[in-house]
Amino acid sequence: MAEDNYSTTQTLTRRQLRDQELLRVSLPAAPVAVRETREVPKKPEPPASWGRRVLSWGTVIATPLLFIAVSLPVNLFYATSDFAPGIAGGVGPGAVSGSQSFTVASSDSLEGGVQRESWSVTSYAEVLRARYGSRNFSYSTTGAGTIRWPFPTAVPISSGFGDRVAPCRYCSSNHRGVDFTPGSGAPIFAIADGVVATSEFGGGYGQYAYIEHEINGQTILSVYAHMQRDSSPLRAGERVRVGDFIGLVGNTGTSTGAHLHFEIRINEEYVDPFAWLKENAF
Ligand SMILES: [Zn+2]
Repeated sequence: MAEDNYSTTQTLTRRQLRDQELLRVSLPAAPVAVRETREVPKKPEPPASWGRRVLSWGTVIATPLLFIAVSLPVNLFYATSDFAPGIAGGVGPGAVSGSQSFTVASSDSLEGGVQRESWSVTSYAEVLRARYGSRNFSYSTTGAGTIRWPFPTAVPISSGFGDRVAPCRYCSSNHRGVDFTPGSGAPIFAIADGVVATSEFGGGYGQYAYIEHEINGQTILSVYAHMQRDSSPLRAGERVRVGDFIGLVGNTGTSTGAHLHFEIRINEEYVDPFAWLKENAF
């Protein structure tokens, strides 16, 4: 009898089981295992409401959207110029907008759940090139030409001529010279034969000298500024030969560190000393 009842119970639906529980006073005792698993008080489940259905479908739809959202760079949706890096000193978006590029990997990154990102970001060096031009201050010298660089070997250059790419080879711009940084105390030499026009201490150039040269029919002035005070033996009116000692690299005048501020002026016009030396010195 009890066995029959048990097998019957196993085929009942949950609802029927629940009904049985409510009426179990009148039923014979069911096996303990069955009673225990079925007796856990449970609120009847209401049929899925509209709200629930919308919520679960929303989850199905939102999940891939979230995946896409985190897979794409946020700036894809903005004009690239909005993201031009700001650099102290006034590099604005206008200066670099042409060279900014942000690219996203091919659509592979959205296929098959593979997340790969490939970025092309404008480097700081590229930003500087956009501002200062693609200038390379490397040069070599024999130290033995009739026109020479102011040092007998190639030395570092910290700042070039102008603060922009000159629109013509000798066009002037803000920085009227080139700054050589071989270190404080490095001896400086005359770039060509000439006559000392000025050799003084004072003003923004500190200890400085002007030497006038006649080169290829042109009157060319070479300027050596910020030298160590009283380090120059030159006197105005003296003749100098190429390679003669001019003075020592210093930090006098308007200068923030030891360097030779060197200028070339042709017929009173400031020209790019690096370009001029590269063209004429050897
Ligand atoms: Zn300078």
